[in-house]
Amino acid sequence: MTDFPRSLLEFQRRFADEEACAAWLAEARWPAGFVCPACGHGKGWKLAGKARTFECAGCAKQTSVTAGTVMHGSKLPLAVWLWAAYLMATHSNGISALQLQKQLGLGSYKTAWLLGAKLRRAMVAPGRAPLAGLVEVDETAIPCRSKNDPPAGGGGRSHRGKMLLAGAVESRNGGPGRVRLAAIADFSADSLHAFLQANVAPDATVKTDGWSGYSGAPGVTHDPHVVGPMAAHLVLPWVHRAFANLKRWALGVYHGLRRPHLQSYLDEFAFRFNRRRTRHAAFRSLLGIGLAIKPITYKMLIEPELQG
Ligand SMILES: [Zn+2]
Repeated sequence: MTDFPRSLLEFQRRFADEEACAAWLAEARWPAGFVCPACGHGKGWKLAGKARTFECAGCAKQTSVTAGTVMHGSKLPLAVWLWAAYLMATHSNGISALQLQKQLGLGSYKTAWLLGAKLRRAMVAPGRAPLAGLVEVDETAIPCRSKNDPPAGGGGRSHRGKMLLAGAVESRNGGPGRVRLAAIADFSADSLHAFLQANVAPDATVKTDGWSGYSGAPGVTHDPHVVGPMAAHLVLPWVHRAFANLKRWALGVYHGLRRPHLQSYLDEFAFRFNRRRTRHAAFRSLLGIGLAIKPITYKMLIEPELQG
């Protein structure tokens, strides 16, 4: 497997030019050597003078190392992609589009935003394993950042101006394991059961604050602890800590999250949380996922609700 840099100096040395970036990406994409995406032939060569381009020895078709990946069709230098991935993966709090634009000297905010948004899509590994063992599950609401929404805290039980989400954290040997977060429409049993089904292994034990929406979830063992709101953080310490960190992060880095993009920011938070002890390896896994997922269009990013 491709190695990864462990410091800024090492990064700078390793990815000194486009050739070096392309060579690293090629090795990450084709660890056993070039495989032609068109015909499946296992032999090819890099074209002289074209850092990204390989030619198949079988069908002679030319392929960019970034074709069919999250970097598909991008005009940005590969070094910009790699730097952005490095900053997003290794900074303990991540990096906003504005910071990305400044740090990488990008021409426009839109370019920086798109770069960050595409990399954020590479923060969910396809086929990742569901949470297992003892899993704390809870739900919460966070205020949205929007010109159109009324300000948060409208009072009462109204969720106007707030976005709802469900969270789950593995409880392992007295500490938190992996986290999953999902935007949900409401706190109904349907929404919460769907969240459990998508994120928690069938044989896991789910620990909750006793909210009736969780009972009867198929497949999981439910361990309800009926408590008042003040004691919930004692019964479910890790999911509550994750919610608190999420809210602080959303305000600190992004000045609040917007409704259409909520899920991708939740995915970013979970990616970083789950790799908090292996931040430099996270750079490699971010690009590894980016090479494995399908290209993402601008339309898909600005209209996430159209993706079913
Ligand atoms: Zn071919």
